[in-house]
Amino acid sequence: MSHINTAATAAPLSSPLPDSRMLIDRFGRRINYVRLAVTDRCNLRCAYCMPEKGMRFLPNDQLLSFSEMERLMGILASLGVDKVRITGGEPFVRPGIMDFLRRLRQMEGIRQISITTNGVLTGQYLAELKDLGIAGINLSLDSLERERFLRITRRDAFDEVMACFHRALDDEIPLKINMVLMGDLNSADIIPMARLSKAYPVEVRFIEEMPFNGTDQGKSRLNWDYRRIIRTLEEAFPGMQPREDAPTSTSQNFTIPGHRGTVGVIAGFSRTFCGTCNRIRITSRGTLKTCLYGKGELDVKALLRSRADDSAIENAFRLQVRRRFKDGWEAEQDARDGTGVSESMSVIGG
Ligand code: SAM
Ligand code: SF4
Repeated sequence: MSHINTAATAAPLSSPLPDSRMLIDRFGRRINYVRLAVTDRCNLRCAYCMPEKGMRFLPNDQLLSFSEMERLMGILASLGVDKVRITGGEPFVRPGIMDFLRRLRQMEGIRQISITTNGVLTGQYLAELKDLGIAGINLSLDSLERERFLRITRRDAFDEVMACFHRALDDEIPLKINMVLMGDLNSADIIPMARLSKAYPVEVRFIEEMPFNGTDQGKSRLNWDYRRIIRTLEEAFPGMQPREDAPTSTSQNFTIPGHRGTVGVIAGFSRTFCGTCNRIRITSRGTLKTCLYGKGELDVKALLRSRADDSAIENAFRLQVRRRFKDGWEAEQDARDGTGVSESMSVIGG
């Protein structure tokens, strides 16, 4: 039941590296993008991401240290990875994150660093992030109603997040808003959220809820899939037009006449974009996931802590990427562990 374009049409990189050095899977998809989860801890408890009581967070020594991450990023950069997204958990709850970002910025080959954050602590760092030349911030915001925000995130941090939103705009940091559709809990926010793109130059993206909330209440179907979201937007904004996006984009974006920004959908549950996927993930456990829906296929942390030299680690990555699944359906099938309990997105990094 795949809805996926499996043609291996990922965009060619401008990288000067020969193909023999690059991470290319057996379908010809080239990997130039890593999502790095720097912690599994978080100051919110979003209902789609983790249980209300939280989780057993990893002890500090089970997270990659920043120097391990630096070494890893150097290895990945030498294999053609030029784009990094820092995520978590909440990246800004990890002490030392700004020093790490400064070092990452100096790293040869890393051309683009962006961050996904819930915005609670982020405001104070924006000026420095701007100076560092951060490519952009994805801010998670699931409701513009204080009460609904509280129900979803289970923390009273609406003001801090909105302050971060306005400050990022004032600082002219490219800003995307991520809103996860939690069924009818926040579907009333779709249109007000889309209207943000009229008032501000932001990309508002509506994300299908995926089955990673750290409980046994997984999703087998969605009542708000990307088609329904698009239909709802089209009804409210009749002039809405598809925008031409990079072939590797996971979001399908639209312009609306008179709007400064755009709206978009991310069909993360329907998995419409696997055919051009150019990304891998390093989870906060320090494992490699070549697909969001797969199990952690390679224990990178153990490798980094062993005597393995850089070329052994490169080879392990190459092998694992070559074996990559065709799509998220195949990966999910392989990852079923029988417990029925899903991993939390705060471990995976989104
Ligand atoms: N804490 C940061 C934040 O919330 O932006 C970064 C980590 S969070 C795991 C990364 C992204 O994953 C966020 O945009 C969040 O909304 C999204 N996410 C988390 N759980 C999800 C789920 N079950 N389905 C879809 N998106 C999810
Ligand atoms: Fe924390 Fe982000 Fe997960 Fe919300 S989505 S609980 S902010 S990691």
